[in-house]
Amino acid sequence: MRSTLLVDIGLLATQDAELGEIRDAAIVVEGESIAWVGPASSAPAADESVGLGGKAVIPGFVDSHAHLVFRGDRAEEFEARMRGMPYGAGGIRLTVANTRAATDIMLRWNVDRLAGELLRAGVTTFECKSGYGLDVETEERSVRIAREFTPEVTFLGAHVVPPDTDRDEYLRLVTGPMLDACAPYSRWVDAFCEQGAFDGDETRSVLEAGLARGLGARVHANQLTEGPGVQIAVELGAASADHCTHLSDKDVDALAASDTVATLLPLAEFSTRAAYPDARRLLDAGATVALATDCNPGSAYSTSMPLAIALAVREMRMTPAEAVRAATLGGARALRRSDVGLIAPGRRADLVALDALSYIHLAYRPGVPLIAQVWRSGVPVLSVR
Ligand SMILES: [Zn+2]
Repeated sequence: MRSTLLVDIGLLATQDAELGEIRDAAIVVEGESIAWVGPASSAPAADESVGLGGKAVIPGFVDSHAHLVFRGDRAEEFEARMRGMPYGAGGIRLTVANTRAATDIMLRWNVDRLAGELLRAGVTTFECKSGYGLDVETEERSVRIAREFTPEVTFLGAHVVPPDTDRDEYLRLVTGPMLDACAPYSRWVDAFCEQGAFDGDETRSVLEAGLARGLGARVHANQLTEGPGVQIAVELGAASADHCTHLSDKDVDALAASDTVATLLPLAEFSTRAAYPDARRLLDAGATVALATDCNPGSAYSTSMPLAIALAVREMRMTPAEAVRAATLGGARALRRSDVGLIAPGRRADLVALDALSYIHLAYRPGVPLIAQVWRSGVPVLSVR
């Protein structure tokens, strides 16, 4: 197998507990995996050598929360919101109408376009939800198309109850025929537990139906109000409770004592001009925190993980090291993945080289395109020059 030695890495932030941060580092990539990591002075020989000119290197970002299968945009809704209209769950319905009317080719093109944006933002693993079909046919098409781009596909039939639909009937559909159609393409089941979307009992029934079909659970929890979402996520052993903007002390304690990752989505608060989640409180309590984009056409139409990191540092009192960790290792934990999110021997060679001397620049230089090079599974997939 061909090996490549990456040298002249100014600062390597591995996210591995033992390897930590290494100055003047080198990495040996062999095939799809990392074979060796350490100081350049003790690097082994390889078939070829690539110099990175002192750039900082971090693991490829793991975006554990994105809604990419849809058609159309909601720029006017955003504009109205910036003029003072509040954000609610209702706007989803416009995207549902557009998505139902779209062909497979249109939906595939949209996912492909956003996957390209994610790659240019340094994201090498991403999750993708359905949830803009809300009928059996369009939800099935959504997860099938998402599955062409990522194994981390989430069935989110329980996004909202579609208009002109009986609530109980819709819940029977989501936990029955729609789940049957979507489960073969999905790894996860998710529900939007929120006033105006689904209450605690409804959320529980959707997640339990998915779990019974062998899917893992994740929950849109406590985004707009202090609801029961986090408690249900922890109780059912969900991989992740996402948003976590409005938490009680009991919620924080439950997350800290569990394997459920608190996934924070500051691009949503940015784009809805809402108060940010209290990351400091979660970290100090010992909870595992992930950062993700929440890319969707309504409340956060951004694929920029670097901007999410900058917001987490500026607005949520995370240190740059904590924010980068949450966007890499934290995201991997939220997807229960051990092969990505860190740079260590045996892991997938997903790497990002920054046009900067350190990862601190991701927060220190907000909005600046610092992603210089990306490797995915050992293959150079992006080089900006
Ligand atoms: Zn979401």
